[in-house]
Amino acid sequence: MKNIELFSRPLAVTPIMPLSGNYTDNELYMKRDDMIPFSFGGNKARKAAEFYKEIIKSGADVVMTYGSNSSNHCRIIANMAAAMGLSCHIISPEENREILYNTKMVEQFGAVIETCPVTMVSETIEKRIKAYKNNGKKPYFITGGGHGNPGTESYVKAYNEILRQEEKDGIFYDYIFHASGTGTTQAGLICGKLLAGDVDRTIVGISIARKEEIGRAVVRDSIKEYLGEDFEKLYTENTLIFTDSYCCGGYGNYTSEIENTIDYVMKREGIPMDTTYVGKAFHGMLRYIDEEHIVGKKILFIHTGGTPLFFDYIKNSEN
Ligand SMILES: *Cc1c(COP(=O)(O)O)cnc(C)c1O
Repeated sequence: MKNIELFSRPLAVTPIMPLSGNYTDNELYMKRDDMIPFSFGGNKARKAAEFYKEIIKSGADVVMTYGSNSSNHCRIIANMAAAMGLSCHIISPEENREILYNTKMVEQFGAVIETCPVTMVSETIEKRIKAYKNNGKKPYFITGGGHGNPGTESYVKAYNEILRQEEKDGIFYDYIFHASGTGTTQAGLICGKLLAGDVDRTIVGISIARKEEIGRAVVRDSIKEYLGEDFEKLYTENTLIFTDSYCCGGYGNYTSEIENTIDYVMKREGIPMDTTYVGKAFHGMLRYIDEEHIVGKKILFIHTGGTPLFFDYIKNSEN
């Protein structure tokens, strides 16, 4: 197994930059997790840095995961496995077979893609793990999207990183906004907040797909799993804000207003955002700020990556 030096030490701090554009009557800042310097970065790179340690510990020779082969998660995991000299096996739903830049990269990294109907996912995963073991192999399975405690841990660390940046810059962010999908990023941020006792800060997850009830339940479960016996002591329902008001009816859907926001942010700030996650959540945040009449606050938006999807967007857009 080969090392990835970048993941063998603490990740470098990602920049927080003030935004110049005219968006709201608040001060807006962006934390650039899209600039994590591995495979186009993003929150999946942050999570992968934690899974990397687990894989090294386990002595695995096959890295397995679940997800669409056009996803940011699968790109990063396939890249990491290739860099480590390990084989990579991805179980992918046979629905939704779009060929995007991520798909091309996953192929280039040499990952094996096994497709199955979405209803057969868990049995396919189990069968494949068993088959590898019977062949004397040691698979390490990463839950889809980098869900699970190592993924949560990566955003507890990111939260603590924000605390150190605040101290250094002499600033306090009243709000943190970000795109919420599997909820791992949000769970990590909330655990970080609860463990630090930061009662004055509000974290808002903008759902990019899930309905509020299921989305909340999954974030809550991840928080509970991570905090263990401290959960009852630390957690209160009002620390978890997960809104589905801006998800445009589901995964991948977006509006021309979202496109306008993406185009403006690219021109005005030089920052690429995709339509599935970051652009959708950034636009949702602006609407939330407006609808909740938030003014005069310092607001931090976390750019969670997805840069290859930005290129798919401009390639296919008509503007
Ligand atoms: C996966 C992803 C998210 C969602 O993160 P979760 O931890 O699954 O909630 C947000 N932004 C981008 C770019 C992603 O790839």
